[in-house]
Order: sequence, then structure tokens, then C-alpha cells
Amino acid sequence: MVSNTLYINGQWVAALGGATRAVIDPATGEVIAEVAEGDRSDARRAIRAAREAFDNGPWPRTSPTERGRLVSELGRLISQHREELARLESLDTGKTMEESRWDMDDIAGIFTYYGGLADKMDGEVINAPLPDATSMVMREPIGVCGQILPWNYPLLQASWKMAPALAAGCTLVMKPSEITPMTTIKVTELATQLGFPPGVINLVLGPGHNVGAELAESLEVDLISFTGGIKTGKQIIRAASDNVKKITLELGGKNPHIIFADADQETALDAVLNGAFFHAGQICSAGARVMVAASIHDTFVNALQQRMATIRIGNGFSPETRMGPLISETHRTKVEQYVEIAQAEGATLLLGGKRPDEPELQQGFYYLPTLFTGCRDDMRIVQEEVFGPVVTVESFASEEEVVRRANSTIYGLSAGFWTRDQARIKRVSAALRFGTVWVNDFNIYFTQAPWGGYKQSGLGRELGRIGLEEYMEVKHIYQNHNPRPLHWFAG
Ligand code: NAD
Repeated sequence: MVSNTLYINGQWVAALGGATRAVIDPATGEVIAEVAEGDRSDARRAIRAAREAFDNGPWPRTSPTERGRLVSELGRLISQHREELARLESLDTGKTMEESRWDMDDIAGIFTYYGGLADKMDGEVINAPLPDATSMVMREPIGVCGQILPWNYPLLQASWKMAPALAAGCTLVMKPSEITPMTTIKVTELATQLGFPPGVINLVLGPGHNVGAELAESLEVDLISFTGGIKTGKQIIRAASDNVKKITLELGGKNPHIIFADADQETALDAVLNGAFFHAGQICSAGARVMVAASIHDTFVNALQQRMATIRIGNGFSPETRMGPLISETHRTKVEQYVEIAQAEGATLLLGGKRPDEPELQQGFYYLPTLFTGCRDDMRIVQEEVFGPVVTVESFASEEEVVRRANSTIYGLSAGFWTRDQARIKRVSAALRFGTVWVNDFNIYFTQAPWGGYKQSGLGRELGRIGLEEYMEVKHIYQNHNPRPLHWFAG
């Protein structure tokens, strides 16, 4: 890969400072590419290009139908390049090819959905409580958007932001995670084939503390849409407060997965495994906090332990693999520290808690599926986001108790529960304080439904119609058809 991997004002360019960064395959520790490493000066020129394209360029003034057509076309190109993109995503993140292929299908669908929605965001006519007046509510693109992305679902998270922003008529500067830029580069390349005007899509690679911070601080950026950790989210809020720019934040989660005694236990167990170990648990909505009714606790934990022991770990390119590596050595060290903390807090380690022994897994950042029981609400391993293949199990005695305890978290992204009792379904789904509640399922999301967090899991929503509204300002236009003097200041 050449180092001209920043895309600014319709041109592929190198970083002004000439810096580059090696991108690593987490399954082997090998370098897969060398890309440009931008800094604040690169972010500034991208912001200038996006500002000019928004203020004076054709894109915000292009008809929504035409904008939607281009956005849908990008979805079609993504489908055409599904295999190549999935391969790049697996190389960059270590996830299995099968998971990356699912991601690419979702991503193509997101562009198709927002392409289709672009010309359906009608305004409203208000019945003004005044005679001879017309009152209209119009939607307009919000402006220049800074989009800051995480490493766990690099292109999926990019698509959640890019597709609605473009459909709305905004211009954007994307900053992928510095460790997983490959698919975002490729999709920007695909977009260049479609005739988006220069300055509409800009891509700046580089670290958060300068490129990301510049986007958050800039007076020229109207909206920051950020997905990442809670600590960084708080920094973004502080940085963005200087010019009161709009912000949407998709932050972390610690998501309870509750199994009532009357659940279909076999299916629930399968969902617990998927919820906790897809992408090695590196999912904001991972069901890492399992809560099991006391009467079935021991049987359920036994079965969970047995199934976890059979999870096939390995390189995501092997069709046998069900769980790949963690994203980096640094991240694996963080997971290992949490495992030590849990043991020091008195949790019982039933399985895992270490790296695999297989010689072929020694170069990658692998970690074994790890099971803790005997956990309490006040443990850090229960309250904090580990973002790895680690589940904690707590037992509970009653519905009222488990709801109260599940809600006792600073997070509020998602929760799930299993029961066959219809009345309980109604009560518990109403009582859980989370942006998404799954009943008899877990970790299901789709383009048409909103996604986002209660409490410290975020601000605003992505996906669905509301995900497009986030990129639009609402303007009220009032017209008096029969103006007459009021004579209040009659002299
Ligand atoms: P992170 O917060 O470390 O980084 C996210 C992005 O922010 C990166 O691009 C990084 O370079 C940038 N950044 C870092 N410091 C910055 C600063 N000071 N100013 C501006 N930008 C800065 O998160 P991560 O480790 O890449 O991703 C994992 C986190 O993302 C987890 O907490 C996970 O829960 C969260 N996440 C949430 C959702 C959701 O939908 N709620 C989805 C995916 C991931």
C-alpha cells in the first residue's frame, strides 16, 4: 500500500508531515500495510475542504433523490466488492471471514436503506394559531460532520455514519481508528468512482489525540459523531463544548443477559455463547454479564462451561475457526489485567483466564474464553467493560431483584432476557433502562431500528429514520400573508 492514503478535497495525498504507520494483522502480528499517518494539519485541510464543499459546493443543494441514488450506488459497489472487503476486514481485525461477510452484507444494506430514505424526509405544515399565516418545518443538512470511529467494527461503524450524513446532504471528514483503517480506505476508493463532488467525503488517518481532537475542537465542524470508549467520549464532550457543536456519542456497554428459570434453556445457552464470544467479545453490546435464576444456576453454568471449552480459536481465515484473536497486544494486556482484578476481588475462575498453549497461536493476540462465577454487583469485572472473551455469572432470586441489579450500572446500551411468561416480558422490558432490550434473543440489530444508549452509553441514536434525523437541522419558516402594523410603539 502506498502512503497516499489520506483523501482530501477529491485527491489521494500523503500526510503533510510525511509520517506513516504499519497496520498489523492481529492473528499473526505481521504487518499487512503501511498507511499515511496524519496529524492536526491534515485534519485542518480536510475540514477546510469539507467546509468549502458544504458552504459553496453543489452537494447540499443537490436534490435528495439524486443524493440518494449515489448513496445507494455505493451500497451496490460494496456488494460487488464483498469478498475483497471482507478479507481486508478480517486481516485488519482478526475476526472470522464469515463474520466479516455478514458485516459487508449489513453495510451494503445500510447504504441502500439511507439512499432510499434520502428523498422521504418530508417537512411539515403546522396549523399556525394565527390568521393569514403559513408555518412550515423544513429539514436541512446539519453541515460539516467529523466522524470518529472505533476498531471493533471498522467499516460497519463507518457506514452507520457515512450513509446517513451523505443522504442528508452533509459533507464529512472520517477518522477511522488508527489501527483498523483498511476497509474505510477501500470504501472511500469505491466512492471516488461515483462522482461525489470534491470535498464531500474526506478521509484522514491518524491518532485520536491530534486528528480526532482537531475534529472535536474545530469551530468549522458542525457535528461530531463519535463511536468509541466512554473515556474518549467524555474528552469529546469537553472539546466540543467550546463552540457548542452537535454531538452524537455511541459509547461502551456492560450488557446484562438474564436467564429466568422458565426460559428455553438450550436456546438461551446458545445465545449466551453468541452474545459473549462473537468477535472475541469485542462488541459494545456483548452480553458479558450473565445473570441466571438461582434454581437453574448450577446446571446452566455447567452446560455453559462445557460449551465454552469447545469454542474453536484460531485464524479467522480458517473455516473451522469460531473465535479469532484480540485486536492488539495492548488490548490483550488490558483483558489480562481485568482477569487478575476479578480473581483479587474474589470471583471464581472456572475456565480460561490465560492465553492458549497451541504453538500456532503464539504469534497472534489470542486469549481463551474465560468464565467467572460467584460474582457480585460491586465487582469491577461486573461493572466495567472488559471488551474481551470474558463472562461473569451472577445468580438471582426474584424478578424484582434482577431488574434492580441489572439496572445498577452507569451504562445503558443493551440488555436481554429469556422467559416464556408474557406478563413478565411486558414488565421487565419496560423496567430495564437500556437503549435496546432483546426478549428471547440477543445481539440482534438491523438498519431499520434505532441503536444507542441510555445513561453513559451515549447521546443520540444511529440507524433507522432517527439515524438520518441526527444529520439534519430543523428549520421553522413562518410567513405572514397579510402583514399589518401592530401599533404597539405608535408614537
Ligand atoms: P477509543 O475511544 O479508544 O477510540 C475511538 C476513536 O476515538 C479512535 O478513532 C481514536 O483514535 C479516537 N480518539 C482517541 N482519543 C481521542 C481524542 N482525545 N479526541 C478525539 N478522538 C479520539 O475506542 P476503541 O478502543 O477504538 O473502541 C472500543 C470502544 O468503542 C468500546 O468501548 C466499545 O464499547 C465502543 N463501541 C461502541 C459502539 C456503540 O454502538 N455504542 C460500537 C462500537 C464500539
